[in-house]
Amino acid sequence: MLIGVPKEIKPHEYRVGLTPDSVREYVAAGHEVVIETGAGAGIGSGDEDYRRAGATIAPDAATVFAQAQMIVKVKEPQPEEWARLRQGQILFTYLHLAPDPEQTKGLLASGCTAIAYETVTDERGHLPLLAPMSEVAGRLAIEAAGTALRRFNGGRGLLLGGVPGVRPARVVVIGGGVVGTHAARMALGLGAEVSILDRSIPRLRELDELLGGRARTRYSTVASIDQEIAEADVVVGAVLVPGAAAPKLVTRAALGSMKRGAVLVDVAIDQGGCFETSHATTHDAPTYEIDGVIHYCVANMPGAVPLTSSHALNNATLPFGLALARNGLRALEADAHLLRGLNVHEGRITNAAVADSLGLPF
Ligand code: NAD
Repeated sequence: MLIGVPKEIKPHEYRVGLTPDSVREYVAAGHEVVIETGAGAGIGSGDEDYRRAGATIAPDAATVFAQAQMIVKVKEPQPEEWARLRQGQILFTYLHLAPDPEQTKGLLASGCTAIAYETVTDERGHLPLLAPMSEVAGRLAIEAAGTALRRFNGGRGLLLGGVPGVRPARVVVIGGGVVGTHAARMALGLGAEVSILDRSIPRLRELDELLGGRARTRYSTVASIDQEIAEADVVVGAVLVPGAAAPKLVTRAALGSMKRGAVLVDVAIDQGGCFETSHATTHDAPTYEIDGVIHYCVANMPGAVPLTSSHALNNATLPFGLALARNGLRALEADAHLLRGLNVHEGRITNAAVADSLGLPF
């Protein structure tokens, strides 16, 4: 199959659909890859790196879309990209169609077959192509908190791990899933005191085991959240209720009980945020202050580290992409988990949840 990789055009998106290492895998399996010139610039991979890996370099996106049988990307296609897709062509990327009727219309009109990373599942019912970005965001949350805690950034002027003889920072993680676990591990690794709150008792048991009892686990209630945030230097919001907006777990009134210069990192901001006072920010201006509490609410945290993020994403997407390249749409019949990724096919919506939330026929 001929695989095409255009340069990402969404503002501030520096990741790339295929790294040179992934291109080598496709080429080794007998496929051809055409990549737009400069597509890997954001991760420090030039056209020459891609040529060495076996790709052909195209001068522009139009050429990539015209030649390729399957387009592999990172972000949802933008309007000029919908216009270039066609019937018989596979699109493999993040789509997030539910809140995006315009993009959905564009994909339906194109006639293409669109497979969304975010709805591919695994045998445990998890989302294996979303997990790597949650891992990145969870780890970054602690780095972001460490920066925001510095005095000249408005923070308490506290070092996360303290030093011998001086108490470390107290980090509270609400939501012990992928983001929460990685945030907790980073914070523990730096020497902070960590509490994790979750609504799932089996998950709290797993975390207790996984972290060797080094973090305090607590069942998440209004009362336990109130107690924990009053003592916290950092609160990481990492909850997810699948298919729903994030629950607001910390109200504006509750900020009054927090320490001045404490930091809230709302990783769940892409689902609306789990603190009442959160609003989405960007990497250019990541923080703001309300009632003396610093808020960090960047909606695309993995975008700060496109090199790590592109490799992590490629590791997860590669086996599915190779199966699609080998077998075309028959790969969907052979793998029920990949089939769950199918969102649009030849002018029809093929994912019940997406159709439901857009009020369109399924
Ligand atoms: P996950 O499903 O692995 O974990 C979510 C956890 O939240 C679960 O363990 C669940 O039991 C828990 N939870 C649900 N309701 C709760 C409550 N009331 N109190 C405490 N815990 C509760 O999800 P994840 O992959 O860790 O993602 C977490 C959030 O981070 C999602 O909203 C995701 O979209 C977001 N995210 C944001 C970025 C970003 O750049 N901002 C990047 C990646 C992920």
